Amino acid sequence: MKNKIILAIGAHPDDTDFGASGTIAKWVEEGATACYVICTDGSRGSEDPRMTHKKLAAIRKSEQEEAAKVLGVKKVFFLNHPDTQLVSDLKLKEELVRVIRTVKPNIVITMDPTFYYSEEFINHTDHRAAAVAAMDAVFPLSRDRLTFLEHEKVGLRPHKVEEILFVSFGGGEFFVDISKTIEKKIKALALHKSQFENFADVEKRVRKRAKMLGKKGGYKAAESFKRVVIR
Ligand SMILES: [Zn+2]
Repeated sequence: MKNKIILAIGAHPDDTDFGASGTIAKWVEEGATACYVICTDGSRGSEDPRMTHKKLAAIRKSEQEEAAKVLGVKKVFFLNHPDTQLVSDLKLKEELVRVIRTVKPNIVITMDPTFYYSEEFINHTDHRAAAVAAMDAVFPLSRDRLTFLEHEKVGLRPHKVEEILFVSFGGGEFFVDISKTIEKKIKALALHKSQFENFADVEKRVRKRAKMLGKKGGYKAAESFKRVVIR
């Protein structure tokens, strides 16, 4: 992973840390550079009657910055769209293309754009919007010079992403061994303090899932993805 650039695009602060932070920490340890994009401000997920949007957005931003530090993530780009209102429109795609052309990632990690619901839960609308916009931004929008030609004026060139990994709730056949970085993942997740009433339960769930995926992939602990190598 030496000299590889990884860009992870999530809807909310904590999304990428749940889905892929073991992988990101591992690849950073191996010499990759990683950046995050957080599309929304995460400003709606609180039951506290005294909480305001503005206050919560600031808390969640700083929690994500702290978590990123634990993982060795170099920079977090916040797009600050209102939580729960993310739409996979041209504006969002342009913003993502701008980041992609700036960071020039080899690999983009995002959520699964085909995942709408399971028997147990409905996938959050922001997750779907971020995933679709990220996929479209990777291909074809970042690649084509004539798309968002205004980027040239600020020195940004078209960029070809080599590979996209979708964090898959329902499986995915590409397993990454996170046995050595699961502790960093837990530490990073714990820093999203405003998200959890009982982090012990969350930790238990995360470890259980990593173990289950590890079993499938032949490791002690793993994260899994659907992988597209773009030709
Ligand atoms: Zn989320």
